[in-house]
Amino acid sequence: MNKKRTTLHEKKGVSQPETTNKLSAEKIKNKRNKHNSVDEFVSKILEGNIPFLSRAITLVESTNSTHQEKANQILERCLPHANNSVRIGITGVPGVGKSTFIETFGKRLTSQGKKVAVLAIDPSSSIHKGSILGDKTRMEELVTDKNAFIRPSPSGTSLGGVAQKTRESIMLCEAAGFDTIIIETVGVGQSETVVHSMVDFFLLLKIAGAGDELQGIKRGIIEMADAIVINKADGENEKNADIAKVAFNSALHLYPLKESKWQPQVLTASALKNKGMEAIDQMIANYVSLTKQNAFFQQKRDQQNTFWLLSSIEQQLKDNFYQNPSIKKALAKELKKLENAQTTPFSAAKRLLDL
Ligand code: GDP
Repeated sequence: MNKKRTTLHEKKGVSQPETTNKLSAEKIKNKRNKHNSVDEFVSKILEGNIPFLSRAITLVESTNSTHQEKANQILERCLPHANNSVRIGITGVPGVGKSTFIETFGKRLTSQGKKVAVLAIDPSSSIHKGSILGDKTRMEELVTDKNAFIRPSPSGTSLGGVAQKTRESIMLCEAAGFDTIIIETVGVGQSETVVHSMVDFFLLLKIAGAGDELQGIKRGIIEMADAIVINKADGENEKNADIAKVAFNSALHLYPLKESKWQPQVLTASALKNKGMEAIDQMIANYVSLTKQNAFFQQKRDQQNTFWLLSSIEQQLKDNFYQNPSIKKALAKELKKLENAQTTPFSAAKRLLDL
C-alpha cells in the first residue's frame, strides 16, 4: 500500500456527492473568472455574450479586491461602448404592479427589436433576509426572452454600495448592446433618490386610492417624477384611476417647470390587461427627443457622472478608513474611553482622523 495515501484520497467506485457546498461552488466560480482574461471578457461582452455579461457583473458585485480590480479594468474598456441607451427608473410600493408592468412593457419593447435589461435596487435585501423585490417568481415571460436580461438586486450593507454596483452593471449591459435599461426599486429609505440619480427618465407607479391619492406620498417623490402612471386601470377600477389622474395632474402643475423643460405627465394603464403601454412608450420617446434637442439629456448624464465620482470617493475613503487595522484598534479604544466619559466624541474623532 502506498504510504502517501490518506483519507483525502477518493476510494475507487465512490462517486463525489452531487452537491458541493456553497463555499466551494463559489471557489470554482472564482477560478473560472480568474482564467478568463480582461480581453476575453471585453470582447465577449461587446459581442453581446450573456454568460460573460453575467460573470462580469458578478465580478463587479464581488467584495474580493482581485475581482474588483479586474472588474474595473473591464469597465474602463467597456465604457466607450456604453452610452447609447435610454435608462428608465421605475418605483412604486410593493403590490402596485412593478413586475407586471415591466413584463408587459418590456415585452412590447423586445417585440419592437429593442434589447431590454432589467436591474433592481433593493436596499431591503441587506436589512431583512429575503428581499422585497426578489422573493416571488417575477417576469416569467421576459426572463425567457432572448432580447431581455434580468438581474436581481446586488446585496450590500449600504444603499450607496448597492447603487454603485448597479450603476456599473448598467454600463456593462449597455456595452453588451442593451438599448433600454430599466432600474426598478421599492420606496425604501433613499432608494428612489438613488435610482433617480442614475436614470434619464423616472416613472412613479401608483394605484388609485379612495380620493386620497396625494396622501402618504413621500416628499420629493413627485418632484422627481417625469411621469406618474396609475396602474390597474381596469374593470371597476378604471373610473377611480381617471379621478386619480386629475388629482395628480393638478398636483404636478403646482411645481415650476423642470430644468429639462419637460412637463411631467400622468397616464393610466393596466399592466395586467396590456392597456396604455403605447402611450407610455410614446411619452418616453417624446421625452428623449425633447431633452436631446435641448441638450439636457447629456447634461444630466454628465451631472450624474460627477455625482457618482464624488460619491465613490467618499465611499472608498470611508471603506479604507474603517477597514484599516490600526484604525479598528484605535476606534475600539476610543469607544471604551467614550463609554467611561474620558473623552468627547469630537476629540476622539479628531485623534482617529489624525492617525
Ligand atoms: P410589485 O410588487 O409592484 O412588483 O407588483 P406585482 O407586479 O407583483 O403585482 C401585484 C399584484 O397586482 C399581482 O397580483 C398582479 O397580478 C396585480 N396587478 C399588477 N398589475 C395589474 C393591473 O394592471 N391590473 C390588475 N387588476 N392587477 C394588476
